[in-house]
Amino acid sequence: MSQKRPVVLITGGSRGIGAAVAQLAAARGYDVAINFKSDRAAAEEVLAACRIAGANVVACQGDMAREEDVARLFDEAVAALGPVSHIVNNAGITGRSGRLDATAAETIRACIDINVLGAIFVAREAARRLSTRHGGPGGTIVNISSVAARLGSAGEYVWYAASKGAIDSLTVGLSQELAGDGVRVNAVSPGITRTDIHEKSTGDAARVERLRSRIPLNRIGEPEEVAEAVLFLMSDAASYITGANIPVSGGR
Ligand code: NAP
Repeated sequence: MSQKRPVVLITGGSRGIGAAVAQLAAARGYDVAINFKSDRAAAEEVLAACRIAGANVVACQGDMAREEDVARLFDEAVAALGPVSHIVNNAGITGRSGRLDATAAETIRACIDINVLGAIFVAREAARRLSTRHGGPGGTIVNISSVAARLGSAGEYVWYAASKGAIDSLTVGLSQELAGDGVRVNAVSPGITRTDIHEKSTGDAARVERLRSRIPLNRIGEPEEVAEAVLFLMSDAASYITGANIPVSGGR
């Protein structure tokens, strides 16, 4: 009898790092639920690629900054694919680059709402659904942080760096809280990775090439390289790892 494939739910899975995680997960034997906010066509493309790899799939629209959308996302994923056992807490934005003293409150608020509040809502829902304490199957949560939490992003988006500092604290605390409940919680901290975020979110597409010389490996990372670290942390190969934070940053 064929075994049921484990189900992974990826927030912001329609583009960039989330899309790469979705496709690698499909290839590694997971069924895949992806969330997107606005770009349904991009989400459908990712689903098509996952299907070719043999996965059952679903795409769920929702703004991860909204508590009610987070709960609905989990409901839709479970209804389509069965109990979810792996969560990749990935949706995030930066806001337009600039010094803090020149940045509008709306820019900062939008970033904190999705990157901090949204990620905490997703983690809370994951804790409720996955924990054996609540009758869940156990599993893993992988939070997508950033090396910005350590570097600070001066002159670019210190509020974004601060939002990722919050993700690092969330990872440590929640890993301890859920350690006895069958859920491992880890983070991956990408460095500069080739996605649309640089153009669409920061408004500074040239940034990627400008910063290349500061990367010891002297190149930009690919989303697939970040996805490899995420899939490792989700896997049984990482069975004794919780509360860890893996930088995928070319040495930066
Ligand atoms: P991206 O290419 O801009 O993709 C962002 C994804 O998140 C899209 O699927 C987008 O969906 C979704 N999204 C945005 N706001 C959302 C919201 N409010 N609710 C639900 N989904 C939302 O970004 P990326 O570069 O892959 O970044 C993914 C994660 O990696 C983020 O947490 C980012 O901070 C982190 N990261 C990226 C880099 C890098 O260099 N790329 C470095 C360090 C950390 P729609 O298109 O439908 O809006």
